[in-house]
Amino acid sequence: MKVIDSIVADAAAIAAVRRDIHAHPELCFQEVRTADVIAAQLTEWGIPIHRGLGTTGVVGIVHGRDGGACGRAVGLRADIDALPMQEFNTFAHASKHVGKMHACGHDGHTAMLLAAAKYFSRHRDFDGTVYLIFQPAEEGGGGAREMIKDGLFEQFPMQAVFGMHNWPGMPVGTFAVSAGPVMASSNEFKITIRGKGAHGAMPHLGIDPVPVACQMVQAFQTIISRNKKPIEAGVISVTMIHTGEATNVVPDSCEMQGTVRTFTIELLDMIERRMRQVAEHTCAAFEATCEFEFVRNYPPTINSPAEAEFARRVMAGIVGEDKVLAQEPTGGAEDFSFMLQAKPGAYVFIANGDGTHRDMGHGGGPCTLHNPSYDFNDDLIPLGGTYWVELARQWLANPTA
Ligand SMILES: [Zn+2]
Ligand SMILES: [Zn+2]
Repeated sequence: MKVIDSIVADAAAIAAVRRDIHAHPELCFQEVRTADVIAAQLTEWGIPIHRGLGTTGVVGIVHGRDGGACGRAVGLRADIDALPMQEFNTFAHASKHVGKMHACGHDGHTAMLLAAAKYFSRHRDFDGTVYLIFQPAEEGGGGAREMIKDGLFEQFPMQAVFGMHNWPGMPVGTFAVSAGPVMASSNEFKITIRGKGAHGAMPHLGIDPVPVACQMVQAFQTIISRNKKPIEAGVISVTMIHTGEATNVVPDSCEMQGTVRTFTIELLDMIERRMRQVAEHTCAAFEATCEFEFVRNYPPTINSPAEAEFARRVMAGIVGEDKVLAQEPTGGAEDFSFMLQAKPGAYVFIANGDGTHRDMGHGGGPCTLHNPSYDFNDDLIPLGGTYWVELARQWLANPTA
C-alpha cells in the first residue's frame, strides 16, 4: 500500500480532531462548532477559507504552484453533520450531546479531507486549484443542494467534483467504485383517503377508507412487478398507515406514507405518475376522495464514467488493482447526487472494516452505518487522505473534463 509518509506522520493528530468532532456531534445546518474546528485547522495551516455556503459550509481554497493561473480546479467534498440518535458507545470520545451521534462517519470524512488539506498546505506540488468542500446537512437536509444554491460552483469554478463515504463490512485497505448509478433517489409520498365515517355495525351508511387503503397498497406493488422493466431496480414501501380510533367506528379518513427509491429519474417519473393514477382511481372506484403528495428529496447518485474510471486508477495505484472492488448500488441515498448533477465526478466507498477497530466500551452492536454502536475507523485517515491527495494531483495534471 502506497500511503503518503507525511500523512501517516500527521494521522494521530488528525485522529484526535476526528474524535473531538465525534464527541461533539451537530445536526443538519447546526454544525457551527464543527465548522469552527475545520476553519481553525485550515487557517492554522495557512489555507484561505470561505464560510457560510449552505449556512454552515466551509470551503478551503488551495492554489498550486501556479497560483491557480491555469484555471483547472477540482472539488473534494466531505460531509460534516451527525444524526439525531442516541449513541450506545461509552468510550472516551463518545457523544457528549444527548440524542445526537456521528453514526454515519461524517466525522471521519471530515478528518480524511483535513488530512489532505494539511498535506496540501505544505506541498503545492501541482498546478491549478483544489477546493476542499466541507458540506453540512447530508442527513436529510440537502446541504449539497443548499451550497450549490448559494453559489458554490459560481464562486469556486471547478471542472469535476469527487465524494467519498466509508463503507462498513468491507476489509480495510479496499475501495469500491463503479460508473453509473451507485445510490438511489429518495422520495416520500403522503396519501390521504377521505371517506365518510359511520357506525361500525352500519358500514353501508359510510364510505370506509380502510379497504381503499388495502387495495391501494397491493396495487402499488404491481407498479413494481408489472409496469417497470424487471431488470430495473425500484422500491415502493408503504411504511405508515394511520386511521381509526375505535373498534366500532368506521373511520372518516386514512393517511398512508412511505418511500420510493429508484436509480434513474425516468423510472421515478413513471412510478410517481402511476402511483398518482392508482391512488386517485382506487379512491374514485370506492367513492372516496384522494389527496396525493409526492416529494422528491435526493436524486440518484450517478458517477460519470470517465471520472469513475479515473478514481479507480488512482485507488489501484495506492492499494493495488485487486483491492478496488465494484461498487454495488445501494438503496440508500446521498445528497452528493446534486453535485454530480451539476459537475462530472465520482462518489466512492472506502472500506471501514468489520468493527474490530472500535475501542473498549463500544455499544456491543454491529459497526454499521446509522447503528448506535458505530464508530469511524481512524486507520482510514492516512489511506483516505492519500486518496484525496493523489486524486487531486493526478486529476489536475491530467484532467478528465
Ligand atoms: Zn447517513
Ligand atoms: Zn453518510
